[in-house]
Amino acid sequence: MSHQAVPLTSARGANWPHPPTDPFLAVVSHELRSPLASILNAVRFLSRQADETPTRQKIQILLERQALRMTQLVDDLLDVSRITNGRVQLHRERIDLRVVVNNAIETVAPDISARHHRLATESPDAPVWLYADPGRLEQVFVNLLGNAAKYTDTGGELSVWVHIRKDQAVIRVRDSGIGIAADALPHIFDLFKQADAGDPRSKSGLGVGLAVVRDLVELHGGSVMAASAGAGRGSEFTVRLPRED
Ligand code: ADP
Repeated sequence: MSHQAVPLTSARGANWPHPPTDPFLAVVSHELRSPLASILNAVRFLSRQADETPTRQKIQILLERQALRMTQLVDDLLDVSRITNGRVQLHRERIDLRVVVNNAIETVAPDISARHHRLATESPDAPVWLYADPGRLEQVFVNLLGNAAKYTDTGGELSVWVHIRKDQAVIRVRDSGIGIAADALPHIFDLFKQADAGDPRSKSGLGVGLAVVRDLVELHGGSVMAASAGAGRGSEFTVRLPRED
């Protein structure tokens, strides 16, 4: 399969560093977050009451799921706003990349199995040491793997490979999903950008996750690239991070 690779440097859009909406994002996100937390608390309180009817139960489940989803979106917006304003502090420590990747896989595992995907993994037998923030790196791989699961029809093939290349750790997240059209690839990491691979699912989110991925990887001194042989032919994301001995 001939992949078209887009180096990170050319993947930035004309608006780089970022659109001037960051203070707006921060305010909106904060204002949305507290009412959402109240809604979630209220729904959870109600679901503990004894007088459940099937209809009421259904409505509570729906309310909780939607409130959780909105909370996740608001958190993503807050995150991207913090990162782009340089307000994210990495808490770096010596970590084994394999552990971080496994934690990310565990986090996304329910989505992967709900969609009946198969997941292949490959990593070195020995620890892959990095000086990095484990939580933030996990977030990177959760976003990439979550997208792989989301943008692949049920019963797809996903893979996560960890390799060592000289002084770098290379992580590849691949899927057999809807793919990314060649003209969308250069913009895929831009904030609020969503590919249109001729498929409505390619616009199912906010377009924030990959911007967060790129910024977090860069904060770690690394790079990220997207590749796809085109619509319907799967996608591949490659992250490179500096390695410690
Ligand atoms: P979101 O998924 O919330 O829309 P992202 O920033 O994570 O935001 O992704 C941006 C866009 O890139 C998505 O809307 C989708 O069009 C495309 N995309 C991301 N990952 C994949 C993938 N694995 N396969 C196909 N398209 C993808």
